[in-house]
Amino acid sequence: AVALAATLAATTACSASRAEDSGAGSGSSADLIGIAMPTKSLERWNNDGAHLDDLLKKAGYTTTLQFADNKVDQQITQLQNMINQNPKVLVVASIDGTALSPVLAKAAQQKIKVIAYDRLINSTPDVDYYATFDNYQVGKMQGEFVVKQLGLDSGKGPFNLEPFAGSSDDNNAKFFFSGAWDVLKPYVDSGKLVIPSGKKPASDEDWKNVSIDGWSSQKAQSEMDNRINSFYTGGKKIDVVLSPNDSLALGIEQSLESKGYRVGAGWPVVTGQDADLANTKNILAGKQSMTVWKDTRALGDQVAKMVDQIVKSATVETNDTKSYDNGVKVVPSYLLAPVVVTKDDVKAKLVDSGFYTADKLGL
Ligand code: BGC
Repeated sequence: AVALAATLAATTACSASRAEDSGAGSGSSADLIGIAMPTKSLERWNNDGAHLDDLLKKAGYTTTLQFADNKVDQQITQLQNMINQNPKVLVVASIDGTALSPVLAKAAQQKIKVIAYDRLINSTPDVDYYATFDNYQVGKMQGEFVVKQLGLDSGKGPFNLEPFAGSSDDNNAKFFFSGAWDVLKPYVDSGKLVIPSGKKPASDEDWKNVSIDGWSSQKAQSEMDNRINSFYTGGKKIDVVLSPNDSLALGIEQSLESKGYRVGAGWPVVTGQDADLANTKNILAGKQSMTVWKDTRALGDQVAKMVDQIVKSATVETNDTKSYDNGVKVVPSYLLAPVVVTKDDVKAKLVDSGFYTADKLGL
């Protein structure tokens, strides 16, 4: 525990991508930890995987780190291979939170503990803990930002809004959307926010109506293109885009640019999440209004602690035992607090914390 604490304190680097399988560390094979990440194609998962892998290795564990190219079958095969090596703990950031029941049943048979990382794993009793940022809060922060930025709370409007939601197979996407929609819906109902495309969820539950599968930038870009082409004719302009994360925001920003929107001349308010590098640069350039930053290092630190507590049969630290019902059980969770970042505080929040160097952001 002392070694882990020292490692947790010492490790501040936010490293970039690494090899598919990190191979063996210095610990004994009895202390193998499997880490399954969804994809290398999104910056955050590379950082998440690298940081957690690093912490666990420095604490003496052997690790296997796998990325699944956003393919559910590939992730299941990777988990099966890990289970064959009989790890102590599996840390899983799932692609489809409902597809892992059979493979996790095998883990349970071998008494392997499972931590759902960032995304809840649904419809199975075989998930022991969940560690994430407060997902509903992420959406709420995006909604509140829009309200403040447009002056909706002081009666301004109407404004043209285009809402988007995340991948329909990701349990988080529902939380992000409902957090935002609970804040924005009253303004939609009162006519202060108008949705020219009609892509308007009837309720929180209807969020899949505006979802972008695979969290794909390209799909978000073509959806935005389509909405602009079909509904923004005759000089009509978008005032605000609710984007659940940075990968969608990137595609949306590319679409806006290609359709003639210019910074300083009616560029819409655009939300995001993750503080990805390209998006942070876009925030500095005025093309994105905010991002909800989830310091992947903090999540890794927490999960490394939980792994250590499980292996040592100590009490595993959680701070929420009611919010995340996976359909079979309420999964004891540790929720971290997300942080809003705007142009004004990129330096104070992202650079001074060491998440990015000033150099990397061209500051
Ligand atoms: C994560 C977000 C991420 C998204 C796409 C979600 O489950 O919580 O941080 O932007 O997946 O990878």
